[in-house]
Amino acid sequence: AGRRGGAGGWARGVNPLAGGVDRRWRAIKRGGDLLTAQGRRLGDALQRTHDLDGLLATVCAISASTTESVRATAWLVEGSSLVARVAWPPESLRSSAGRVPMEGTLMGRVVSTGLPAWMDRPDQPASVGGPVLCAPLQRGSDRLGVLVVERGPGSAAYDTESGASLVAITGPASVAMDNALLHRQAQRLSVFDPLTGVGNLRMLTTTLAAEVDRARHFGRCCSLLIVDIDRFRDINTQHGHSAGDKVLAGVAARIAASVRTVDRVARYGGEEFAVVCPELDPEAAVAAADRVWRAVRDQPFVVGDASIVVRVSIGVATWPQQARTSTELLRAADDAAAHAKVLGRDQVSRTERLSD
Ligand code: GH3
Ligand code: MG
Ligand code: MG
Repeated sequence: AGRRGGAGGWARGVNPLAGGVDRRWRAIKRGGDLLTAQGRRLGDALQRTHDLDGLLATVCAISASTTESVRATAWLVEGSSLVARVAWPPESLRSSAGRVPMEGTLMGRVVSTGLPAWMDRPDQPASVGGPVLCAPLQRGSDRLGVLVVERGPGSAAYDTESGASLVAITGPASVAMDNALLHRQAQRLSVFDPLTGVGNLRMLTTTLAAEVDRARHFGRCCSLLIVDIDRFRDINTQHGHSAGDKVLAGVAARIAASVRTVDRVARYGGEEFAVVCPELDPEAAVAAADRVWRAVRDQPFVVGDASIVVRVSIGVATWPQQARTSTELLRAADDAAAHAKVLGRDQVSRTERLSD
């Protein structure tokens, strides 16, 4: 904190423009400081595109120290309001009002103009009582929010220079935020399991419902296999969790390779997979399950130096023979897999009749 001296001392003595030179020199030096000292930290933070709150936390901390502020808060646009999302120091988030309308506030003005703005006497809700400076968080025409820094009551006012310093942070931060939001959206919309590359639960439920609908419409069958790895916990214990992960990916690959291309493989739980098999009647489904069972047990999985023997229990059920709806089909195949476990694991088990 405090003013910086630097070359201003001599400049003031020799030149009537010294005040301006001093200011500009300080701005340049401050920019340099930002690049060297904070730049690396900011750079690191901006890489964290998977973690919006972590990114904003670092951006708040850097903004507060760069602008010599006691508090920094990131507010995000939600409809016509702004919501306080992350603050530095972290505990100050509780004292700032959670949600405020944009209309008629300094923050709202910054969001709508896309330009930084400051005032000596705050109109902010729950402000610390001193000067306030706001810079937009925006990417192109996308208004993401506003970053607010505050000084204590009676502190020096913010000026153009502090506005520029803050924008030097919020500009790149907005790009990273936008990426983080896109990443989050992509993840939400994703239908693939990142570890194994097969479908995720979301894909399973939509595919299963669609295939059962189709089977009903055309008067056909639709079968479902639930593949549960036997004693997977022991594999983790013996070989480590990351070897366990590789086994999961390997099992997924062998399942996918042993079924038809029209069959959809999805990760159903931690160490369970589901295969939706359109058109397969009960007998054909058992034969398909048998191929999956053999493909997994055929040879051990090699992970590093370890050769890991893997066995699976598979439950099979078919619509309409053993279920009336896609939900029932899932339950029936699940029950069959549980039955295979009870019978001693390492086998295929089928549901015999429609459940009540
Ligand atoms: P069972 O033969 O009765 O199926 O025994 P199991 O050990 O396979 O079943 P259980 O449900 O008791 O344990 C499943 C284990 O799977 C526990 C959990 O730690 C592990 N697991 C779940 N998800 C993952 C993952 O993504 N990676 C790894 N490595 N392990 C996982
Ligand atoms: Mg299981
Ligand atoms: Mg298991």
